[in-house]
Amino acid sequence: MNSQEARLRNDLAAAFRWTARLGLHEATANHFSVAIDEDGGQFLMNPNMAHFSQIKARDLLLLSSASNEAPTGPHAPDRTAWELHSHLHRNFPRARCILHTHMPYATAWSCLEDPEILPICQNSARFYGNVAYDKDYGGMFVDSEEPARVARLLGDKDVMLLGGHGVMVVGPSVAHAFDALYHLERACTNLVLAHSTGLPVKRLPHEVAARTARQWREYQGFSEGHFRALVSILDKEDPGYRLQSAVAA
Ligand SMILES: [Zn+2]
Repeated sequence: MNSQEARLRNDLAAAFRWTARLGLHEATANHFSVAIDEDGGQFLMNPNMAHFSQIKARDLLLLSSASNEAPTGPHAPDRTAWELHSHLHRNFPRARCILHTHMPYATAWSCLEDPEILPICQNSARFYGNVAYDKDYGGMFVDSEEPARVARLLGDKDVMLLGGHGVMVVGPSVAHAFDALYHLERACTNLVLAHSTGLPVKRLPHEVAARTARQWREYQGFSEGHFRALVSILDKEDPGYRLQSAVAA
């Protein structure tokens, strides 16, 4: 294992642990992956049926996106998840890290007839113009055309709201993808709470929403800083998640 893989294993394991801490996971379902290389040829993914709160860096599966054969064995991910993540890593190397959850407020918003992430606040404006919507939920186990359909829908966006199902967030690093996942849930929390008042909700003007989204993109170091702060808390409170330094060297 080289130092790059060791670093990514620690980062992805930390993302799993914090997702569980924040209650954004669903049972032992949901999948995260991160590509080891820039071409997306190999990627790390969670082992099947492992609870996010218990996942260790060394437990993560190293899989090939070039393979046509689904992984086998007791810890192999379910075929649907493997096909989707494998297809995206192979065809969208920019999506270095892919996070899929059924986090409650974003999933609740995805169930609306019109699930547009309305720019009503600073958090929701972050995603203005950067969300793809899949309004054709087709059940839990879908056909082999599903990965290509999802990839087409995602296009150049970083967030996909999966209607009646959950979300998928992609990013150039674990830190960027996790920070986006966190803020997407915060944005949808604000959307649900604002609409739950029953009072008229104010949509930000296009210019303000677009400027705010740009300012989020230009906020250098924010995502990385947020994630490193979370990692440092985990290192103090629950350091067993990460590789020992002798292994990581
Ligand atoms: Zn799902």
